[in-house]
Amino acid sequence: MNSKTVHIKSFGCQMTKLDTALVTSALKEAGFSLTGSEKEADVVLINTCSVRRHAEQRVLSHLGNLKHIKQSRPEIVVGVIGCMAQRLGSELLEHDAVDIVCGPTQIPQIAEFVTQSLQEKKKTIAITEKIRRQTSKKQTLALEKFESVFDADDRQIPNQTFVRAMRGCNNLCTYCIVPYVRGPEISRPPAAIIEQIKRLADKGVKLITLLGQAVNSYKYTTCEKTYCLADLLQMASEIEGIEWIRFVTSYPAEKFYSEILKAMADLPKVCNYLHIPAQSGSDKILKAMNRNYTADKYLELLDKARDIVPGIAIAGDFIVGFPGETEKDFQQTVSLVQKARYKNCFIFKYSPRPGTTAEEKLQDTVSTEVKKKRNIELLAVQEKISDELSKEFLGKTVVVLVEGLSKKPHLNAKNGENRPQLVGRTATDCIVVFNGPTSLAGQFAKVKITKTSPLTLFGELA
Ligand code: SF4
Repeated sequence: MNSKTVHIKSFGCQMTKLDTALVTSALKEAGFSLTGSEKEADVVLINTCSVRRHAEQRVLSHLGNLKHIKQSRPEIVVGVIGCMAQRLGSELLEHDAVDIVCGPTQIPQIAEFVTQSLQEKKKTIAITEKIRRQTSKKQTLALEKFESVFDADDRQIPNQTFVRAMRGCNNLCTYCIVPYVRGPEISRPPAAIIEQIKRLADKGVKLITLLGQAVNSYKYTTCEKTYCLADLLQMASEIEGIEWIRFVTSYPAEKFYSEILKAMADLPKVCNYLHIPAQSGSDKILKAMNRNYTADKYLELLDKARDIVPGIAIAGDFIVGFPGETEKDFQQTVSLVQKARYKNCFIFKYSPRPGTTAEEKLQDTVSTEVKKKRNIELLAVQEKISDELSKEFLGKTVVVLVEGLSKKPHLNAKNGENRPQLVGRTATDCIVVFNGPTSLAGQFAKVKITKTSPLTLFGELA
């Protein structure tokens, strides 16, 4: 039995969180025990995301803190894993605090690297040299084995988890770092995915979210047939114990959408929720972003979704202040948001990511001030829509899968009441806060909505 302790910290997206859960599982299997305290840990691992500059800056400042800890405890091992490790490689290894640099493709070897580093006290780097090349068969097999042996069973939220459908991305949007840190698109074999979901269902998982950077392009060919996302949804629906199935993130291309929407409409377990980033409402900017659709085509797709799946909740992503975005372009984005009537939107200010086409070829023309102003304006437009959509829930009873205690305990406390409240989500991803026993965490509950805000519904157990 290994007596060493590991502290793992994750900065970033859902893919990163899934990798963290798998790495945690693998290290536990190798005999390490987890600790919540970085100061006491023998090993500190930081799993990173490169999509936004802010996330990388947080990692760098965290490494600064670790450097201080290392001055008093030089024996601790610090590893940076994930996208930032792949992007910065040896530059990161030169950091005084860092002992291990391990890219997303190399995470199956993480326990080995950590053990080696503890024993031999030497720095280790493992990243992919030519990341845009097809991942080697050996690496793909290692990743697949890793995924099938170590389920993401370190669940922060009870009875729900992510399941990877695909790795990498082929879309090459000009602002995006993902294709350069996660490599080209690879769909996992459907049999492996379904096997994994069955195991998770046996452990009590009720909600699975299939993950892919552009998950609607999932495609896997066997000698019998070519499987698409709709096939995966159908097969996952047949698994006993699984009650809800979601998938994120979708790319707004026509490809496969009819089948996917039909599966959503026909399969009761598939949640009526679509996260489908538009990024801009200006055709000029969409072209500069290398997004292969126009604003009109995008809106047609939303109409089609609402036609085939009545009551579907749609969420979007936008980047404001992309190079060359004029006020007219931005107002086209405002207009698209008004027409799309999203449940909610994630809105980001453009920041160039090193190594992307936008960073290399386009000038970051929009000032920080203007980016901030547009961000605030677009958020306000969306907030009004979210508020109107939330109000439609007043007096209705919804089913939620309870996640646990709300981080904002007194949000809806009645007079004099001072206890933490529960938080759950509907199948359409609406956040619901209500009073109830903590034993409901991981269970379904019915809640009558009595009050709303743009992003949260409040209610009472029905
Ligand atoms: S679809 Fe575009 S934005 Fe999304 S991960 Fe792929 S390249 Fe990045």
